[in-house]
Amino acid sequence: MAIERTLAIIKPDATRAKNAGKIIDMIEAHGFTIVGMKKMQLTREQAEQFYAVHKARPFFGELTEFMVSGPVIVMALEKENAIAQWRKLMGETNPANAATGTIRKLFGTSIGDNAVHGSDSPETAKFEVSFFFPELK
Ligand code: ADP
Ligand code: MG
Repeated sequence: MAIERTLAIIKPDATRAKNAGKIIDMIEAHGFTIVGMKKMQLTREQAEQFYAVHKARPFFGELTEFMVSGPVIVMALEKENAIAQWRKLMGETNPANAATGTIRKLFGTSIGDNAVHGSDSPETAKFEVSFFFPELK
């Protein structure tokens, strides 16, 4: 299994609820190395570019509105099989369907306000990590 990088975002619902520390603690406890991290307020343009794959979805407006509603914490995570491992720790998109002990089960409140983001493939991870961390080689 190869060492991979993936992009994680602690979304505005979770930073508002002051759950960021607990989420970062879980990330480290599960053996991820945080190779980049910054807290930032996304612009609408950044949110729309980042989620461009969802442009045609009915929830695109709601999603981008939510992502600019407060600060986010973006992180580049490194681990063996990081992309799948981070998605496993996040849990299903809808917190109601997420497994016990996952971040979305613990901290998500709806399918939109689901606390965290994670890249879904090696191609997406490459795009997303370089989107926020162009300095990481
Ligand atoms: P994931 O984040 O699990 O990869 P998607 O890529 O399908 O899920 O969707 C991106 C994000 O858009 C979700 O994490 C969630 O915040 C939001 N979202 C997805 N589906 C809906 C929906 N039906 N209504 C509102 N927001 C949604
Ligand atoms: Mg996705």
